[in-house]
Amino acid sequence: GWRSRAAFKLIELDERFHLIKPGMRIVDLGAAPGGWSQVAVKRGAGEVVGVDLLPVDPVSGATIIQGDFNDPDLPDRLRELLGGPADLVLSDMAPNTTGHAATDHLRIIALAELALHFATEILAEGGGFVAKVFQGGSERDMLVPMKQAFASVRHAKPPASRKESSELYVVATGFRGRRSGE
Ligand code: SAM
Repeated sequence: GWRSRAAFKLIELDERFHLIKPGMRIVDLGAAPGGWSQVAVKRGAGEVVGVDLLPVDPVSGATIIQGDFNDPDLPDRLRELLGGPADLVLSDMAPNTTGHAATDHLRIIALAELALHFATEILAEGGGFVAKVFQGGSERDMLVPMKQAFASVRHAKPPASRKESSELYVVATGFRGRRSGE
């Protein structure tokens, strides 16, 4: 079985947007307890590399390391483990909430922006990016750089995401590639 309810969110996003294809190299940011990695492996990913602050019981077919994605060394460690450009970068990272809505919102957007920056460094042309964000305004700021970097950018609230939660996902596909001079 799946280790998390979150697994169903990725399944629903994949059914709607056809993100995971056999043989893909996939990065799973905020992977604990391992549900999204399980789904990626089950759907035929060739390579899955993940990271979380928390330890994760081994997921067969995936390599998940313990670490803080804010750590400046982390992107290179993930890149080395992946052994080549990624086809899909997934981020379900959510910082611990402080209870102060504005602060929580800024922290999750900061993590999503870091994930976006990482994605634009590691993705192969044509690649995809999915990140958890929260409704509340500033997630709109991410749309401008995302629309420059990807052919298609959409917001989605998978049915498995609780209605009363302001969580939603940005789904970007068709990475345009790194341009010279950037
Ligand atoms: N997608 C996962 C699954 O299906 O099992 C669930 C992910 S859970 C909603 C969010 C995770 O993000 C938590 O396990 C948390 O530890 C992780 N996280 C939050 N901030 C992080 C950071 N700075 N670096 C790495 N992981 C982080």
